[in-house]
Formats: sequence, C-alpha cells, structure tokens
Amino acid sequence: MRKMVSLPQQEELSITINVGEEFKSIVWKAQYDMDFNTECLFCFSDRITGYRVEDEQGRSGKVAVCPSCEKVNAIYF
Ligand SMILES: [Zn+2]
Repeated sequence: MRKMVSLPQQEELSITINVGEEFKSIVWKAQYDMDFNTECLFCFSDRITGYRVEDEQGRSGKVAVCPSCEKVNAIYF
C-alpha cells in the first residue's frame, strides 16, 4: 500500500499544547521566561508566568501558566 504523506505547514511549526491544559513542567522541560500582570482565565489569580517549553513532539514554544491553578492561559511567541 502506498502511503500518502501530507504535512500541513502550520501544524508542523506550532506546538501541540493548548490553552486550558494542565502545566507539565518536567515533561515540557519548562524554563522560566517572564511574568505577566494578567488575570488568569480559570481562577482569580492576577499574575501568570511565562515559560519556554518543548512539547512531547520536541517542538518549542512559549506558554503562560497560572501559578495557582497551573493551567495554560496562553501560547505566545
Ligand atoms: Zn489560575
């Protein structure tokens, strides 16, 4: 059987982490990047922290995570 190969460019470049996901600092090899004075989307925390991460596919990106509920609030670049 022949295998069809299609690689959607955008998905290829973007990380597979989504907003609302639980923060997995070890799996994602999180490294502190910066703080944001932004309210968390999921709880009442008024500060979220940005990390440089690598997802399970080895793609790198940046995520902003709430330190209190540990949910991903945003993906940024
Ligand atoms: Zn929160």
